[in-house]
Amino acid sequence: MKHTLADVVEIDLNAELPRPASAELRILYRDEGQSTRRQDTRQGMWIAIAVYLLFSVTDILLVPDVAPYVISARFVIGTIAFILLELQFRWNASADTIDATCATALVIAYAGWLYPSLMTADTPSISYYMVFGAIFMMSVNLFFSFQFRLSLMASAVILLIFFAALLSFPPIDPSYKLAFGTFCVSCFVFTSYVNWKLNRERYKVFLNAIEARLQQKEAAERGDALLRLSNTDPLTGLENRRAIDQRLRDYWNAWQTYGTRFTAILIDVDFFKKYNDCYGHQEGDRCLIQVADVLTESIKPYNGSIGRYGGEEFIVLARVASQDEVAELAESIRCTVEKMGLLHQQRRDGMSIVTVSVGAAFTRSEAGTKLEKIIHEADRALYGAKASGRNCIKLFDPNDPHSSDESENVAALLKIATAQNLVSLVYQPIRNVSSGNVEAVEALMRLTMIDGTSVSPSLFIPIAERTGAILNLGYWAIRTVCSELLIDNHVRVVSVNVSPIQLKTPGFATSVAAILGETGVAGGRLAFEITEGLEMEMNSDILRCISDLKTLGIKIWLDDFGTGFAGLSWLRLIDFDTVKIDRSFLHDSNTPRGKAMLQDIIGLVRNRGHKILVEGVETDEQLALMHEFRIDQVQGFHVGRPAPAEKFRAKPRVDDHASRVRRPA
Ligand code: C2E
Ligand code: MG
Ligand code: MG
Repeated sequence: MKHTLADVVEIDLNAELPRPASAELRILYRDEGQSTRRQDTRQGMWIAIAVYLLFSVTDILLVPDVAPYVISARFVIGTIAFILLELQFRWNASADTIDATCATALVIAYAGWLYPSLMTADTPSISYYMVFGAIFMMSVNLFFSFQFRLSLMASAVILLIFFAALLSFPPIDPSYKLAFGTFCVSCFVFTSYVNWKLNRERYKVFLNAIEARLQQKEAAERGDALLRLSNTDPLTGLENRRAIDQRLRDYWNAWQTYGTRFTAILIDVDFFKKYNDCYGHQEGDRCLIQVADVLTESIKPYNGSIGRYGGEEFIVLARVASQDEVAELAESIRCTVEKMGLLHQQRRDGMSIVTVSVGAAFTRSEAGTKLEKIIHEADRALYGAKASGRNCIKLFDPNDPHSSDESENVAALLKIATAQNLVSLVYQPIRNVSSGNVEAVEALMRLTMIDGTSVSPSLFIPIAERTGAILNLGYWAIRTVCSELLIDNHVRVVSVNVSPIQLKTPGFATSVAAILGETGVAGGRLAFEITEGLEMEMNSDILRCISDLKTLGIKIWLDDFGTGFAGLSWLRLIDFDTVKIDRSFLHDSNTPRGKAMLQDIIGLVRNRGHKILVEGVETDEQLALMHEFRIDQVQGFHVGRPAPAEKFRAKPRVDDHASRVRRPA
């Protein structure tokens, strides 16, 4: 089994006699502190040479007769050692080499002092003086930090030199030789032992340092991994919302500080819920991973950042110089996903592959100082892309009324609209073509600003849908219709426009039932108009809600038929009581082609057995055509403009209206 460095450190730390348990550790120990070791030995050597030369004084005092030789030897050896050491230092020799040189120099210095001194005629003096030889042994073992083996070898050689000198020097007394020899051997043993212990301690300190370093490294790596994990989306491996928010802050700060402009692009996978429902969640996950991968590739040339922003929503941030570049990047993102050609056969909008809607915003000088603003703008652009039929890109346009600050005001206004009486309903008659009688009225919502100016439904309804305000407004409309017109039987049926967002809301049918219960109005007096347009995904929640509403007796009408993609499939899925054919078909009917088209649509709806209502009747000719086509009901400025409830509270002058609906002569 191969041990890691941490393992061998652990083994060594627990060993009785620690010694490098692996080659790696040995090399590490050798290399560890190379430069400090070299520096320590160098300085130690300077001191040793200085002391060695200073001993010339004792030479003169103790062995004056041979002092010139001894002192010369001292200077020659000291100088050579100094030069050698300095050269090695300059040549960057290893600490081991420098230590070896130093140890050798010490041995030679010992011999170089001892042997000339022995030539003295003063036997007692030299017998004292020889004691100083112990200093050399102490030096190699204790003064310098040599490795044990080197110290042992050097001190052993010193001991040998000493014995050689002692034995070959007959004038000294044998008992002195015995005592002094014993002293030197003891000195050798003890100082070697201390050296061995010091080396062991040094190695232990090294091991502890390595262990601490490894632990620190491991903790840092664990910290890095944790950080990576907390910043990564586990499914796609992209940065998650938290991380990308931080990046956004960086981009934003760079823009605020250096004026580096950037774009924020939101990307939403079209009809992803349907994809999940149809292919299962595992495939759904795979789809997101594939989209994430191609998006990552497509932004590489722009050096941008990408993250997963929510369920099927991604975000790209990139430094760009112009609006054109933003459009180019957004389009390349859209194209890349389309080119993948990933099958998605359940989307019912004429396409059968996975695509994305893309909304982009670009830093503008007047965009204010709030960081969220750019995301908000990209979000609005994305909403616009979805509203335009998806699989397209939209760049945020501050001049677009749906994007402008005005829409912010409207969104704020909608929150307080019902409480402040800023909303009201007008009713537009729906007439039977043959009798001319008002059979129903359509409730149309009106919004006025606080200063009294009115806001077009085409502006405030999409905002209400986007912000969710449509829910309360919708309940308010149903309640108002019941209390204004239905309780007192002023009209037979009132149709109310209902957004798919309302139908998707859990508990919608129950809340409607509660309103009917409160007001005592029968469900059959209400019709709900559903527009096939935006947010037209017909999911099971909507179908269930519609079926509940039908159980309450409420009629379900299909509004603006022919304007969206889903109309035909909706016709198949839902049993509508009435289908309202969008006014654009009637308005195009002044050409033979347009007329044939209208006829075809009418035929199609009629064959499915729905009652037909044509919207937008504005002229006598159009009304005549309705007679000709045997349409059931009509609506339009020519047969009745939207008017407040009061107009319908008075008994309707059926005759007046009937005369206008009658077939022209
Ligand atoms: P819609 O449901 O198709 O309403 C008919 C729209 O056509 C009304 O516009 C009406 O004033 C207009 N109109 C009626 N007759 C004619 C005509 O002869 N010629 C022309 N050119 N237009 C005619 P309005 O009131 O501006 O409403 C626009 C849309 O706003 C409505 O279309 C509907 O989709 C939505 N809306 C209105 N009120 C509500 C509401 O209470 N809830 C929801 N969800 N949507 C609403
Ligand atoms: Mg309508
Ligand atoms: Mg309509």
